[in-house]
Amino acid sequence: MSWVTAIARSDIRAMRAYEHASWEPGLIRMHANERPWRATHDMSAAGLNRYPEPHPHELTAALARLYAVDPATLLACRGSDEAIDLLIRCYCHAGQDAIAICPPTFGMYSVAARVQGATVIEVPLLRDADYDVDMHALLAHRDSRVKLVFLCSPNNPTGNRLDSAAILGLVRALDGRALVVVDEAYVEFADAPSLIAQIPAHAGLVVLRTLSKAYGLAGARCGVLIGHPDLVALLRKIIQPYAITQLSIEAVFKALEPAALEESALHIATLKVERARVSRELELLSDTVQVWPSQTNFLLAEFKDPAMAWQRAHDAGLLVRDMRHALGLSHALRISLGTPVQNNRLLQILE
Ligand code: PMP
Repeated sequence: MSWVTAIARSDIRAMRAYEHASWEPGLIRMHANERPWRATHDMSAAGLNRYPEPHPHELTAALARLYAVDPATLLACRGSDEAIDLLIRCYCHAGQDAIAICPPTFGMYSVAARVQGATVIEVPLLRDADYDVDMHALLAHRDSRVKLVFLCSPNNPTGNRLDSAAILGLVRALDGRALVVVDEAYVEFADAPSLIAQIPAHAGLVVLRTLSKAYGLAGARCGVLIGHPDLVALLRKIIQPYAITQLSIEAVFKALEPAALEESALHIATLKVERARVSRELELLSDTVQVWPSQTNFLLAEFKDPAMAWQRAHDAGLLVRDMRHALGLSHALRISLGTPVQNNRLLQILE
């Protein structure tokens, strides 16, 4: 048994997975208590009267091709949100184990941990070092009950990418004790590659990717976890059968067609141009204190009067994210880049 399996919850390791109805697409389905007729309004290719494939192999294979990995190392989930939840449920005994996070960061790590009854250890990012990770402080928890360290790179909401060599150093230092989960939801907008290529050489490295951002599929809810095959096999035991709906499966296949991928690449390029322009223009506004450099499709901006900036945008029908509750961000708003027209409207309103 690899250490990746050995440090998981013993009860999950011992558990038998749910036995779903068998999947034999060529045969007439009289084994899953479905309705035999599809509805006339049903526009799906496969028919929504039928359950989707319980663990979708073709979808997994297509996503594995997209990310250039072995399908045995990839688990397709309902967004990366589900991957976060599955990891914590699989590795943390309630009331005993812990995760480490580096705030300000994405909120779902601590929410999923609290739902599971896992302790959340916070090791704040270093604002004075451009929101870099405090590796010394993280390593101080090496001998604790921390089973998972969540690093978000590029980070939401600060927008910076974390140093890959430092992350891999942490993975090596925690080898045999804890997994390092690198959430790369925004990596398509960054100027450095994903850490996925490092997974075969690092058993403790897990990467999360999503189709919600760069691929424009937030509504379909599809993300992936990529990691050691033993980890993927373990999580496959606890993920719900039929997790990805038939509509989502079909939407993902469409998004992975060459023309759709080209379209996504064009939108990424436009968003990067807009990111530079909007950042420059926001800096010129009298109420702006600072706009942080971004490797994502959003900007973190600090204002003298963030409440007023938020209200003015809202009154004009534009929603930006109030970040004042986040650690050290008492003056910050997070602005997701829109179309050039939408961005101009926001700039005009904040002027
Ligand atoms: N990770 C980060 C850093 C995010 O910002 C988000 C969405 N805001 C997610 C994960 C969740 O993505 P998904 O839609 O794949 O669940």
